[in-house]
Amino acid sequence: MNSNSITNAPYPRLVVDLKKLRHNIDVVLDNCSQANISVCGAIKGFNGLPKAVEEFAEAGFSQLGTSRMRTIKELTMLGIQAKYLLLRVPMLSEADDVVKYANVSLNSDIQVIRALNDAAAKAGTSHEVILMSDLGDLREGFWDQEELLDCAEVVEKELDNIVLKGVGTNLGCYGSIKPTVTKMNELISIAELVEKRIGRRLEIISGGATSSYVLVLNQSMPERINHLRIGEGILNNYDLPEIWGLDIENMYQDVFTFEAEVIEVRDKPSHPVGEICIDSFGRKPEYTDRGIRRRALLAAGKLDFALNDKIFPQMEGATVIGSSSDHMILDIEDSKEEVKVGDIVTFHVSYPSMMYLSNDKYVNVIYNL
Ligand SMILES: *Cc1c(COP(=O)(O)O)cnc(C)c1O
Repeated sequence: MNSNSITNAPYPRLVVDLKKLRHNIDVVLDNCSQANISVCGAIKGFNGLPKAVEEFAEAGFSQLGTSRMRTIKELTMLGIQAKYLLLRVPMLSEADDVVKYANVSLNSDIQVIRALNDAAAKAGTSHEVILMSDLGDLREGFWDQEELLDCAEVVEKELDNIVLKGVGTNLGCYGSIKPTVTKMNELISIAELVEKRIGRRLEIISGGATSSYVLVLNQSMPERINHLRIGEGILNNYDLPEIWGLDIENMYQDVFTFEAEVIEVRDKPSHPVGEICIDSFGRKPEYTDRGIRRRALLAAGKLDFALNDKIFPQMEGATVIGSSSDHMILDIEDSKEEVKVGDIVTFHVSYPSMMYLSNDKYVNVIYNL
């Protein structure tokens, strides 16, 4: 339980520790630079909270990446200077903003790239693109290799205001496909076909996100992969140890923490009493009868953190047993601390909850400098 109150802003709060963030950033950049890989720092997981973005902007990323133009626009308006990379394939309708505010974008559609070219010509500027190849994860990217090669040729020879920077791929998002050396080599051979077609070397071969960073950590990343786009592995670090079994002892998992206030403490049955119907989200959960247990009710809910199994109470013996939109229930029967109304409970959060909490008007964001 907490807390070193930094200000007296009301609860619930999302606390961002900027020193820990910078530490994590520096470790990832260092590991990647040893493998000759430049990094796009992905800031979308925390919705581009400006003070945290400033840490990114000072750190030595080749670009800062986010999926939403609006974030890039707002950060630009705030004067946070960086090379911005639009991570989501641009909408046709946002071409003007893309060339105005983003330096580079990931692309998979020639019609969109032509629109970017027109918009860039109109604005008297140029825009860089990375062509995405879908290697089986089945989200964005060219599926047909010939189509990608033709697109590359058009960009190179016909579109005067578009610069073809390279090729990239994304894995482990929709199709849960694991980035492997084989997948990376597939991407490299596509890059080499593009190079043959356009008669020059590509500057960027972008091998993916945090899940591809795993290959850097276990030193198996093929040499020609020279760019990654990393968010989770800097911000939360839950995937690397839990899914990939990697040692990340030198990384903080508590750059982002969540604080919520206790509004009721009581002994109650652990199994609901009466006829079981559905919960507030229309589901029918299973309840285990563990007898009467001590519980704390907290003033925060799914509206804030989305998934109650993706936030982790930092009070020994406490477990989250459920939540509705505005309430969370903690089992504190085994907690050694005495919990009372008005106490603050601190949670570590993983990526999905960080994403919601940082975009939540009911949550106050506090920076730990
Ligand atoms: C979000 C995103 C990333 C960063 O993903 P992490 O898993 O947070 O590292 C990289 N590339 C694309 C295209 C993305 O949308």
